[in-house]
Amino acid sequence: MVSQIVCTTYEEKAVCAAVENLLKPLGGMEAFVKPGQRVFIKPNMLGAGHPDDAKTTHPAVVYALAKMAVQAGGDVLVGDCPGGDISEGSARRALEMCGFEDAARRAGARTVVCHRHRTVRLPRTGFAMETSVEMLDCDVFINVAKAKTHTYAAYTGAVKNLYGVIPGTFKAAYHATHPIALDFINFVLDIAQQMRPALNVIDGIVGMEGPGPSAGLPRELGMLVASTNPHEADWVMIAHMGWQPMQVPSIALATQRGLLNADAIELVGEGIAALERPFERPCRKDGMGNFIRLVLPKGVQRRIRLRPVVGKNCVGCGVCARSCPVEAIAVQGGRARIDPEKCICCFCCQELCPKKEIKARSRFG
Ligand code: SF4
Ligand code: SF4
Repeated sequence: MVSQIVCTTYEEKAVCAAVENLLKPLGGMEAFVKPGQRVFIKPNMLGAGHPDDAKTTHPAVVYALAKMAVQAGGDVLVGDCPGGDISEGSARRALEMCGFEDAARRAGARTVVCHRHRTVRLPRTGFAMETSVEMLDCDVFINVAKAKTHTYAAYTGAVKNLYGVIPGTFKAAYHATHPIALDFINFVLDIAQQMRPALNVIDGIVGMEGPGPSAGLPRELGMLVASTNPHEADWVMIAHMGWQPMQVPSIALATQRGLLNADAIELVGEGIAALERPFERPCRKDGMGNFIRLVLPKGVQRRIRLRPVVGKNCVGCGVCARSCPVEAIAVQGGRARIDPEKCICCFCCQELCPKKEIKARSRFG
């Protein structure tokens, strides 16, 4: 079942009422949280950012969920593993800037910087993955995603948000171990199977369009969705964004793997009218072309994928170079330069560039 509700404001009282109504068809928060249980609420905290940038889950949504979980008797932690090689102090500042510190405190919850990790073996492949200890050791895992475009994966919502269970630098490293898009998206689906969130909520009150997940622009959508199945929640949110869900690689692969049957989704609640203009794609020329790439032989995928290029306003800060999993970036003469022979086109650099100066270039124009 997917529950959906229209909500056009981040005004806290309105969001609390909307989230409560959103969860009612799923049995309310009491269906997920029992007194005394350890609850982990995982928003999208890609990095430090103001809530209005739409890069991270809005704190009003986190507040509403944390408050309900506390009222249900849970011992509630809020946290995430931001991307890149960031210190504990920077992660703490990110929690504050994103508004999660304040939201958690007022809701009666606590925040945590997720630096401790443990190895888990993914059942399908046996891959040894470092995972946040706090997220593994909770009784109830609540996944609170943001609806955004994503240059590499086309879209990020409930399923892709689960890549955040991996601590900072390992995120980039696992791009290097899964350099082909098909393998990487399958890896993300494996993580979703491993983590099995009890509840998935997607904040689409304001989403992001264009070159997401961090360099795009906020776009009002007015939707919240929730489900115990992250693939179903994504399917519904993508449809509201005006795209064909099956064109998004994670949806197509989840369907192929039997994790999603869109025809069987039981949809309850109110939705918005169809958008006159769909969400702008991550790359105007062929931002949804990743789907086509996935069905092509791997060698062809490599040749036609979107490539990163450095914009003219690069300030040479080196954040991209430090986040590149294959050391394809060097800062020379005050600006970043990408070695196309080494680059695996993962777009970690775009995600973390503070100046939004990494663009996606299509081979088709
Ligand atoms: S992170 Fe952005 S601004 Fe900094 S060096 Fe890289 S491209 Fe330039
Ligand atoms: S240059 Fe950017 S896109 Fe290429 S591998 Fe490095 S981080 Fe990924």
